Amino acid sequence: MGLFKKDTVLDEDQVLEVLREIRDPGWDEDIVTRGLVKDLKLAEGNVSLAIEFDTPLFPGKLQIQHQAEDKVRQLPGVTRVSVSMRSNISTRAGSEPHALIPRTRNTIAVASGKGGVGKSTVSANLAISLGKYGARVGLMDADVYGPSVPILMGAFEPPIMDRGRIQPPEVRGIKLMSMGYFLPKDEAVIWRGPMLHKMVQQFLGDVDWGELDYLVIDLPPGTGDIQLSLCQTIPLTGAVIVSTPQGLALEVASKAIAMFKKLNTPILGIAENMSYYACSHCGERDDIFGHGGARRASQKAGYPFLGEIPLSTTIRARSDDGQPVALEDGNSPISRAFTELAEAVASQVSKVNAQTTPAISIEE
Ligand code: ADP
Repeated sequence: MGLFKKDTVLDEDQVLEVLREIRDPGWDEDIVTRGLVKDLKLAEGNVSLAIEFDTPLFPGKLQIQHQAEDKVRQLPGVTRVSVSMRSNISTRAGSEPHALIPRTRNTIAVASGKGGVGKSTVSANLAISLGKYGARVGLMDADVYGPSVPILMGAFEPPIMDRGRIQPPEVRGIKLMSMGYFLPKDEAVIWRGPMLHKMVQQFLGDVDWGELDYLVIDLPPGTGDIQLSLCQTIPLTGAVIVSTPQGLALEVASKAIAMFKKLNTPILGIAENMSYYACSHCGERDDIFGHGGARRASQKAGYPFLGEIPLSTTIRARSDDGQPVALEDGNSPISRAFTELAEAVASQVSKVNAQTTPAISIEE
């Protein structure tokens, strides 16, 4: 590789060999095989390199930096080591930018079989958790029947028009769009398919999303026109299915899965919300709806299990206040649960992107 110096005992292969001992969490591969090691330079015992992840720099990644530094430092002849960490979020291999959202790298639909399982709560906290660790994120509320993103994110100022494009409101750098901004309060949406299709197109094409690594899309519950419209309009990177642990919820979740399969949308995995109750007084855990149902169901169906979020008064109260828990610094167990969920989703996105077959969107 050209940088090998004859008068030193050290060469690049030796460095790469020790780096091969480090695994990319979320993948069963080491960081060298995954092609994450970049800009490796050797000069007189000075070694510098970058580790470039294709997911945001979640907290666990800092451990990788230390591991890499320690391992390289122990090689004979090394006097100085510098490992920089960076992230360059991947997009689908071989795919062309979509005309409606040409600067969006990934679209993640968050879906559920039925309402009330916490799909919007998960969408908002997922978006925040991805953004908190460096990703550029948008959150599109496609739940026209119960748009909750403005309330959840505490962002009530309607979008403004600028040079013919809708400027999305932003909360902590997350760009938001919701039908809630355009509907008179307390008015019900009774649109049919074509209107919904138009809304989906406008929310994608007329909104100035800018550069996005992830556009998180909060879908209405069930398997209706919006889901169809979305899958026909843009090739989704994948869908996250949210379910509570009860058998019934899982049964309807499997209908959502079947729909995405039919539409050729990859299933990123299943997340279990209201997984268990952690008592805020005594700390005791109570598996109100049974526990582990979604994990078992995802294993049975062969989809990744993305994590479990507890049933917690804090989650409910912070959502109502427009201050989703994921906005916290990340040390509380609940905030950590959302970070882990975001890590799992991001890993699945990068796995889907690494597959070479382009995403297919079904034409009408
Ligand atoms: P959906 O989008 O599936 O209809 P929401 O996200 O709107 O569901 O959640 C429904 C209600 O349940 C909201 O009041 C929300 O605050 C609450 N909720 C969601 N997830 C949790 C949780 N893990 N713990 C406590 N309350 C929750």
